[in-house]
Amino acid sequence: MNTVTAALATLAVLTATVALPQVAGPGRTPLLLSVRQHTHGPCKVTQIVESDGPFVDPAVFYAGIGLDEVRKACPPGAAGHIADDGKLVFATQIFLVQRPGLNVLIDMGSGNDKERPEQPWWHHQKLASLGLTPDDVHFVFFTHLHDDHVGFATTLRNGRWVPAFPKARYVASKIDWDYFASLPKATRHPSFDDSVLPLANAGVLDLVRDGERRAGLRAHLSPAHTPGLVLYELEGTNVWFVGDLLHHPAQFVRPEWKSASYDFDPAAVGAERRKQYGRLADANAVLYAAHIGQPYRVLREGESGFTGRICR
Ligand SMILES: [Zn+2]
Ligand SMILES: [Zn+2]
Repeated sequence: MNTVTAALATLAVLTATVALPQVAGPGRTPLLLSVRQHTHGPCKVTQIVESDGPFVDPAVFYAGIGLDEVRKACPPGAAGHIADDGKLVFATQIFLVQRPGLNVLIDMGSGNDKERPEQPWWHHQKLASLGLTPDDVHFVFFTHLHDDHVGFATTLRNGRWVPAFPKARYVASKIDWDYFASLPKATRHPSFDDSVLPLANAGVLDLVRDGERRAGLRAHLSPAHTPGLVLYELEGTNVWFVGDLLHHPAQFVRPEWKSASYDFDPAAVGAERRKQYGRLADANAVLYAAHIGQPYRVLREGESGFTGRICR
């Protein structure tokens, strides 16, 4: 039994939330790092929650749309995605997918030892608190190459960023790679240079196009949030990892509501979400979105055409 399996075997029953030791970097507010575990056919999916809490005022995130309207748009049971103080609740998560003999991580959170002054509370979370041995990880997938999805991919060794999982192949969207690599270094987010470029330099980064598969995950291109965002379908199940296709459950009901200034092509977001929601609803898919703390299904329902349901 490897360390990952041993650690997970100690967890409580499925879908339980387990509080792990509080961790924090020097001078940081301690945050609880939790995990939530689910079984889907032959696969186990573990949500490794880097952070989960009140994040932003609705009117800021949704460009002037007020709290009452956002509450109305939240699907049934999603009230927990608005905090008591009226702020929208966002999570940052890494997903561990396990089949017998295979450990896969999807998205890499914000990461250790990386200075992101605009988000100081995301720093210095300890993936190792889960007992996850880096050597146990076979693949790391990125839905896209934003800073909050690549952070744990590399680790600092002797002053250099090197792959954090020495035996893993890393998989990213070719379109995202081409786009971010083409930006001048001075204008792109430093995460590309400290968390993605070192993977390519080490020869461990594979690039996928629409429809291609690796390690039982099939990539489906969904451009808008970034030029090459991909959704990963876990073959043999109805599970999809959708990254930042949406950021908040109100966007199931209001696909056209934009995510602040986070989207590469905001004009395309609404139509792209509708297209993907249709295929996900038809597949009765269970969605894991990087910033939504619970898995959801998307249903064809209501005036706007879609809604979401938390999977219990
Ligand atoms: Zn993003
Ligand atoms: Zn994100």
